[in-house]
Amino acid sequence: MNDLRDLYQEVILDHGKRPRNLRKIEDADGEAVGHNPLCGDRLTLYLRLDGDVIRDVSFVGAGCAISQASASLLTETVKGMTREEAEGLFHRFHELVTGHPGAVPTVGLGKLAVFAGVAEFPVRVKCATLAWHTLRAALAPTAAGAEPAVSTE
Ligand code: ZN
Repeated sequence: MNDLRDLYQEVILDHGKRPRNLRKIEDADGEAVGHNPLCGDRLTLYLRLDGDVIRDVSFVGAGCAISQASASLLTETVKGMTREEAEGLFHRFHELVTGHPGAVPTVGLGKLAVFAGVAEFPVRVKCATLAWHTLRAALAPTAAGAEPAVSTE
């Protein structure tokens, strides 16, 4: 499946170079800072919530191509999802990047499937999951009842 692998590579490079939703949301309903000291990836993720639905999500930050591409694809994917759907996707994504290549079905993951190859590079797993851990942290405070807490990794 070399063609597929090339395509995956292309998507990651594209999003890594030109991240989508790379901006700040003023007066965000949720935000969190994520840091991956192993690689030096750093990002702040912003959420606009409408009840339980993620209306808008964006990030600012800097890091390697994988961390930037992952954050970019995350923002495209979870927009419009409920908190619960995003949480479910987090778990599936985590399985994908920590599992054995090809062993985890990528059906339903959409573009996120491009990160399947990361499982072959354990040192890169934290780069790929940083944005997802940060999303969870950003969702957490309001889940507990609008506490003004910001979590970091
Ligand atoms: Zn990284």
